[in-house]
Amino acid sequence: MTRDTAIRPTPADEARAVLKRLGVADAVLTAGDRIARSPLDGAEIARLADTSADEARAAIGRATDAFARWRLVPAPERGRLVALIGDELRAAKEDLGRLVTLEAGKVPAEGLGEVQEMIDICDFAVGLSRQLHGLTIATERTDHRMMETWHPLGPVGVITAFNFPVAVWSWNAALALVCGNPVIWKPSEKTLLTGLAVTALFERAAKRHGNVPDGLTALLIGGRDIGEILVDDPRVPLVSATGSTAMGRMVGPRLASRFARSILELGGNNAAILQPSADLELALRGIAFSAMGTAGQRCTTLRRLFIHDSIHDSFLPRLKAAYASVKVGDPREAGVLVGPLIDSAAGEAMERALAAARAAGGTVHGGDKVEVIGQGAYYRPALVEMPRQTDIVRHETFAPILYVMRHHDLAEAIAAQNDVPQGLASSIFTNDIRDAERFLSASGSDCGIANVNIGPSGAEIGGAFGGEKETGGGREAGSDAWKAYMRRATNTINYGSTLPLAQGVTFDIG
Ligand code: NAD
Repeated sequence: MTRDTAIRPTPADEARAVLKRLGVADAVLTAGDRIARSPLDGAEIARLADTSADEARAAIGRATDAFARWRLVPAPERGRLVALIGDELRAAKEDLGRLVTLEAGKVPAEGLGEVQEMIDICDFAVGLSRQLHGLTIATERTDHRMMETWHPLGPVGVITAFNFPVAVWSWNAALALVCGNPVIWKPSEKTLLTGLAVTALFERAAKRHGNVPDGLTALLIGGRDIGEILVDDPRVPLVSATGSTAMGRMVGPRLASRFARSILELGGNNAAILQPSADLELALRGIAFSAMGTAGQRCTTLRRLFIHDSIHDSFLPRLKAAYASVKVGDPREAGVLVGPLIDSAAGEAMERALAAARAAGGTVHGGDKVEVIGQGAYYRPALVEMPRQTDIVRHETFAPILYVMRHHDLAEAIAAQNDVPQGLASSIFTNDIRDAERFLSASGSDCGIANVNIGPSGAEIGGAFGGEKETGGGREAGSDAWKAYMRRATNTINYGSTLPLAQGVTFDIG
């Protein structure tokens, strides 16, 4: 333990103080048996009451009633609510960011960055609330007009993962609310406190707005069983589910079986290709952040690096030096860049992956467990030289492991990059315009995110976010992702006095 950590409050004490400032009542923190822990030391912060199945169904019922009112509120007025949520988030940014650090283990810059992302999507959605427009389409019939209108859809279920405990809610909620939909949120059972804090902020915004129906949002506390209630309820026409591919495999077919919509945001196995023309200094920084940031617990974390043979032996020592220099520890400590894994099970998964990589001929640098405080699962990020892309490389291990491989030409690297089940994020480092354009082309990266001279991690909210293949195909946040939260109607209007049929069909009834 360093002198710095010795004088700091325990994560639990600090979290309880932050929760109080954010408006979460003390009584809520002792209301039940579900233990909320901090990954910083593994110690208990609170014991929360689970939402029962009946309470979850009642929340869906209230959301259904709220929908009947909220869909009639003009969209810019709905946007005003989201603007107020943005104001509350601005005011609470320091505290909520700190709570993300204490509950998810992120270093402060990333905790605050996550809240900034919430503020950004609120701003985006407020603008969107005046732009939910459809097309006017040329019609083949005289004295007719054809157009598209977009209508609210209904209660939206949002299931989120531990690693972006607040931002993913906001990507969905900000859009869903301006689109006219209630939002029922089931956060990860590992990050419930941030869920409670965001709910308290929402309630303040709703009160200030003054025209928010009861039940417009709800928080469901529990595990998979409570998520399944959302997934199976026919009153919920859309579920946005973020988490592992294993979760998506369960949730996707259940939603499909009742013809509900889904936005699936699942696991990634993201790659970067380093070409000989790259700016190596820039690439080094991009690779280091993408691979080690958030302790390797981003869906977009860089997990596979393909280095061109001609620069492999000169670049790898620089990367190893960057790995060796990075400070692992209590994320509240100045200079720490890599905090803990979410829990000891995540640490064990990392150890198993490194053992499998060694068994498959890999050479592991780093990856050791570090004692920091209490039962926190702290590990040095691992750099693993692999002879080829083996099974373990093709698997997403949610930990800071970067597998490094060689390639001889771009076609080989693109083929290897795409040869995994997941399809979330990818990047190329090059100053050669042909390489960059090839990578972005139809025969290039098969991922939902393809970047040039930026690592795969750290998206902005203005773009649509999501990936292909086992990543699930969903898109959230910017661009036209809002369309998934609305019901599209095609309208044809005849303002003439005859009834021409489409395709010239005649139907004379005498
Ligand atoms: P997880 O799959 O264990 O849990 C995610 C959520 O799904 C939790 O709220 C959990 O309770 C719920 N859940 C699990 N099974 C369910 C079921 N059968 N029905 C309903 N709900 C169910 O994931 P995690 O460990 O919290 O998060 C890490 C994973 O999430 C990684 O695979 C990561 O890549 C992925 N992730 C993806 C994105 C993305 O946008 N693509 C973003 C963040 C995280």
